[in-house]
Amino acid sequence: MEKGEDFRWQTEQFGDVKILRYQVPMFEHLPLQEKLFVYYLSQAALAGRDILWDQNNCYNLALRRVLEKVVTKYPGNRDTDDFRAFLLYAKQVFFANGVHHHYSMDKFRPVFSPAYWQELLRAVGEEKDEYLERLLFEPDYMAKRVLLDEGKDLITGSANNYYSGVTQREVEQFYQKRLGQERQPVSVGLNSTLVKVNGEIREEVWKVGGKYGKQLARIVFWLEKAIPYACNAQQAKAMRLLVDYYKTGDLKLFDAYSIEWLKDTESSIDFINGFIEVYGDALAYKASWESVVEIVDEEACQRTRKLAEHALWFEQHAPVADCFKKTEVKGITARVMQVAMLGGDCHPATPIGINLPNAEWIREQYGSKSVTLDNITYAYDKAAAASGVLDEFAWDEEEVRLAREYGSLGSNVHTDLHECLGHGSGKMLPGVTTEALRNYYSTIEEARADLFALYYIMDPKLVELGVIPSLDVAKAEYNSYIRNALLVQLTRIKPGCQLEEAHMRNRQAIAAWAYEKGKAAQVIERVVRDGKTYFVVRDYEALRELFGDLLREVQRMKSEGDYEAARCWVETYGVKIDNALHQEVLARYAKLGVAPYAGFINPEYHPVIEKGQIVDIRISYPDDFLTQMLEYGTRTRE
Ligand code: ZN
Repeated sequence: MEKGEDFRWQTEQFGDVKILRYQVPMFEHLPLQEKLFVYYLSQAALAGRDILWDQNNCYNLALRRVLEKVVTKYPGNRDTDDFRAFLLYAKQVFFANGVHHHYSMDKFRPVFSPAYWQELLRAVGEEKDEYLERLLFEPDYMAKRVLLDEGKDLITGSANNYYSGVTQREVEQFYQKRLGQERQPVSVGLNSTLVKVNGEIREEVWKVGGKYGKQLARIVFWLEKAIPYACNAQQAKAMRLLVDYYKTGDLKLFDAYSIEWLKDTESSIDFINGFIEVYGDALAYKASWESVVEIVDEEACQRTRKLAEHALWFEQHAPVADCFKKTEVKGITARVMQVAMLGGDCHPATPIGINLPNAEWIREQYGSKSVTLDNITYAYDKAAAASGVLDEFAWDEEEVRLAREYGSLGSNVHTDLHECLGHGSGKMLPGVTTEALRNYYSTIEEARADLFALYYIMDPKLVELGVIPSLDVAKAEYNSYIRNALLVQLTRIKPGCQLEEAHMRNRQAIAAWAYEKGKAAQVIERVVRDGKTYFVVRDYEALRELFGDLLREVQRMKSEGDYEAARCWVETYGVKIDNALHQEVLARYAKLGVAPYAGFINPEYHPVIEKGQIVDIRISYPDDFLTQMLEYGTRTRE
């Protein structure tokens, strides 16, 4: 097996993505019981893949079946520009779990002709399909997976598959009726497709025996295999609730599961498996299916433990109005983990930190659990070390030096603060729910967590706690945040387009707002040298103050459910892009030849069987993305 420096972190690059691998060094040291637990959980993590594909678009699974068939069976000449164009398209679709880009949400455009597509279909014995043809070659047909444009119908304009036959107005009316004033409201609409049949609007619930029943039954099968190996009774209890929830679709059981899952803070192996994040739905009701299996990295946990221990101090000293502060901070568990398997909406592209649950009342009453995914960040750093992006967009040698010395610690601590304290902080006013902010909720919530992290990373308290060695780490993080938000992240956007994705919007909104508010005092300076634009932080302390002011306001928007203020702030600072600057950034970036997005090939786990018993689980690190995608396809096929 490849070890240490010989390990190939990046295997290939196509379109705008690079394919990386991560290692799970801790796995090999686990006792057999725990290896078995990881193994069964990882099978459960892979079993829900088709749910996500179908959620992303109603034709995705049909298209994938054809793509897989052509890739494996096409008997014709593969050494042609046409076939290479086909293969690029197929890989892009596999990477995005569907026909829309995983991040920009725009539909991929094949660069081969409809005639060639038909030739491929004929060659593998497939019928011509009118809908797939439109999907591939009609640019305006299902153009955007999630539409967030103000003033348009966000439901009929989105090509995702969470709704059928209903308008935005109908969806809002349907769910507003159900919101109620309960103190412990379930997450209405989270696990169902909303359809209109014969004029009647109803939910098709995702459960065993219901919609996505086959896939959920498979997930349940693996979870039930895993339960006997759970790390402790608490974890087993939580898992049984998850199984019951998947069997019934009862959202009260999902909340009960989330609470028991939260209480389990001791397990050395943990996981996420469920309908979790709502970014894929413009109205943030419907959750995509995802899974992550993680092994605790005890040594690295020291850092997050210190933050969690002082959570109340951070809450009390936050620059927000007292009425929006928690008076006690419940059970923050922040741990550093090694990912053992990624599935559903966390694969191939993955987050580097996760904080759950999302239900606001559970967070307030029971706290939250957050993880920093260490081996993923490590793989990113290894692969990025030589990319040249830093040198291109950093203003001077000092900025480069700070980044090289403290950049990766700064970004890890930012993630810790964002996940462990940021999302968990603050409270809602009585009667206000997160639904009040509608399509701006995700952006506001991410902004809030980012601002919390930005404000506190510059606090001497972090040095005092030993989380960072000096405030230079914070300076490196400020530079990097501004550089990324106002320049580097634009490389992910096509010319003429605007920002759509919640995290990108919140980053630009924060940085652009701070730039404008600090303009008179030259807090951040915009400088042009040799035709290249730079944003240079001139006054770190003043910038910290600005972040604090904005945190106060963003917390107020969330706590009061001030839709109008949220809309205004996001639309003013977080959506539009300066066209000339965008062109410049794209040109500078193109010269570097680096793909702006990355995703991962998962490891594989192989049971070693002797006399009918599993005596060991071996891990291996496959190195071909397409092979893994095809193998996953065979797993979930009927
Ligand atoms: Zn977040």
